[in-house]
Amino acid sequence: MQTYAYGFPRIGKHREYKTTLESFWNDTITAEEFYSQLLDIDADRCKQYARVDHFPRGEMTLFDPILDMAYMLGVYSFQDCRSYYEHCRGKNALPLKKYFNTNYHYLQPTLKKAEFAFSWDKIRFFKAEDSPLISLPGPYTFLSLCETEASIETYAEAVADAYAEIFTAYPHATFHIEEPGLCTDMSPKEEVAFSRIYTRLTPFLSRLHLITYYERPNKIVYTFPFKALGIDFIRGHEAVAHLSKIPEETTLIAGVSDSLHVWKSDTHREGSLMQRIRASYTGTILLSNAAPLFHLPYSLSGEDNPVILQECAFACEKMDELSTLWNKAETSAGQHKNTSLNTVEELHSSPRNRSPYTERKKKQVQLPLFPTTTIGSFPQDREVRRMRAQYRKGTLSPAEYKNFIAQKIENTIQFQEEIGLDVLVHGEFERSDMVEFFAENMEGILQTKQGWIISYGSRGYRPPLIAGKIQRKNNAPMTVAEVSYAQGCTEKPVKGMLTGPATILAWSFVSPHISSATAAMEIGQALKDEIEDYKKAGIQIVQVDEPAFKEGAPLRKEKEEAYYLWATEAFRRATDVSDTIQIHTHMCYSDFVGIMPWIDALDADVISVEATRAGFQILDAFRAYGYTREVGIGLWDIHSKEAPEAEALEKNLTAIEENIPVEQIWINPDCGLKTRKQEEIKLPLQRLTALADRCRKDA
Ligand code: GLN
Ligand code: ZN
Repeated sequence: MQTYAYGFPRIGKHREYKTTLESFWNDTITAEEFYSQLLDIDADRCKQYARVDHFPRGEMTLFDPILDMAYMLGVYSFQDCRSYYEHCRGKNALPLKKYFNTNYHYLQPTLKKAEFAFSWDKIRFFKAEDSPLISLPGPYTFLSLCETEASIETYAEAVADAYAEIFTAYPHATFHIEEPGLCTDMSPKEEVAFSRIYTRLTPFLSRLHLITYYERPNKIVYTFPFKALGIDFIRGHEAVAHLSKIPEETTLIAGVSDSLHVWKSDTHREGSLMQRIRASYTGTILLSNAAPLFHLPYSLSGEDNPVILQECAFACEKMDELSTLWNKAETSAGQHKNTSLNTVEELHSSPRNRSPYTERKKKQVQLPLFPTTTIGSFPQDREVRRMRAQYRKGTLSPAEYKNFIAQKIENTIQFQEEIGLDVLVHGEFERSDMVEFFAENMEGILQTKQGWIISYGSRGYRPPLIAGKIQRKNNAPMTVAEVSYAQGCTEKPVKGMLTGPATILAWSFVSPHISSATAAMEIGQALKDEIEDYKKAGIQIVQVDEPAFKEGAPLRKEKEEAYYLWATEAFRRATDVSDTIQIHTHMCYSDFVGIMPWIDALDADVISVEATRAGFQILDAFRAYGYTREVGIGLWDIHSKEAPEAEALEKNLTAIEENIPVEQIWINPDCGLKTRKQEEIKLPLQRLTALADRCRKDA
């Protein structure tokens, strides 16, 4: 059986992609050097594909394939690489958005008029013009990811015509067209858009590989005679039941190797899956990764942990697997391994001890109206990063590092007192990343050495691997020392800071032998232990961050409930602590439409949310639901360097007051300040505290 792979990571074995982009941005290499290095990185990528029979070219990008596509279609006009990056970084950067429910973020173009024309020839730019198979994001998915002024179907014909120009310019090529947009719950208008696009492209269908992933595709896809159709049978195994609908001449690109997971394929499970596919489809089948390989680290070659080496497969090894999977599966199919899945009853087995909100509120810290606070992190400048790197290398002793962090905490507390904030934080200087830090301090979670994955542009992160029973290492406190040191520097309450179970899981790889629900509940228990230690240290307020609470949810509505059940239950476990502790949570991407009951079920005393970038739409959700606990609608967009104007703050606060009773309102920025510079945060924070002062006088 032949094999097919796509989406191999662009990051490079030693993160060359990051180095190259950043060197170009810092002017340490010329435009020519930059270009030739990019081509080298792409050449290496393509070399790795030698492990399979088929792969597309043209996947390389200057920053993001969706933005590239906007240039190809003439939404923006391509001058040179420098000007391209103006859409990626700095003042005119396009908004970063989640790519479906993954941790990759794309740049979101805005579409005004329905006018497109094949403009920038990215295919030639990346020297893929002679390739027999060329990759592009699909027209439907492209439209669905853009911010559009008009309804999506009004762009259908125009976008299809621009794609037709591209296909015509390369008359001998087949195109690998990625349409994961088909795997969401599509509205009738979206279905119309898809149909119109591909009806218009009828003359080209015999040259298109239509690739879907992250879920089963909408059935509409079976009505078009594509040359090949790619299906993710791992996340969308239900599609097996529809295989008889595929036109006979279409080749099936069967996504059977789980590329959203670093764990080796389970030949038993994948084996029986392949037998079912085989039994339901008589045409040609190619075996493939189930979703793009860029969600995986490059290869295992940089790792030394025996568990990782034995049980994992990164992008290179997943391709190796493809060629052996079929043979192995033939011999061992049928014997399913049982992974323990928690039932909802099990999750609910231990009742919650915390009293109802109105009762426990009386026992918690007393604060003025419109309390002010921040979300947790303070600027991590070059010095912080340098000291951490030296400490990790061993050139800075633990004592010296500890002293350095203590000094940073002391300064940050003093700074917050000067500003006049009500609830202070220690600043999170000891943490490089909010998930990595906890992963390193918990048993059962492994860290790779070189397992970098791109989250957007040149930015990489190393997801932890959940591999066993989770608890705090030696059951020792993970964060209490820093927070109580901060509390020792001030009379004001200092808020302890933890990362929640759903977020830790969303940004990790969970072993297939462990159910996410079990892992989440174990993390919840570890966090509860931590909060109890906070209490002993005299901390009265604790924030459990859940920025990925919504992101971690499955793509299809019908699968949401199972997720939210364990995600909320694990949070409730973590925060099932003394009534006297005020529990905060924080979420970044704040579209709560449809999930308010779950937000409510978290039973947090205070929730802070990012609101500015979505134009404070979130207020509707809180008002419509009749939310009764406290809310901090982020008033300062920390992604912007500019301090918000006092009048703008007033105006936004007025909007908040119209939707949320004043006793419930907190005043805070909309996210952590980690990425801001120290000199950029003073004025905005002063304006927030001034606003609170003024409101208190009025109240
Ligand atoms: N407490 C974290 C911080 O301030 C929250 C980060 C986040 O929302 N992603 O950095
Ligand atoms: Zn945030």
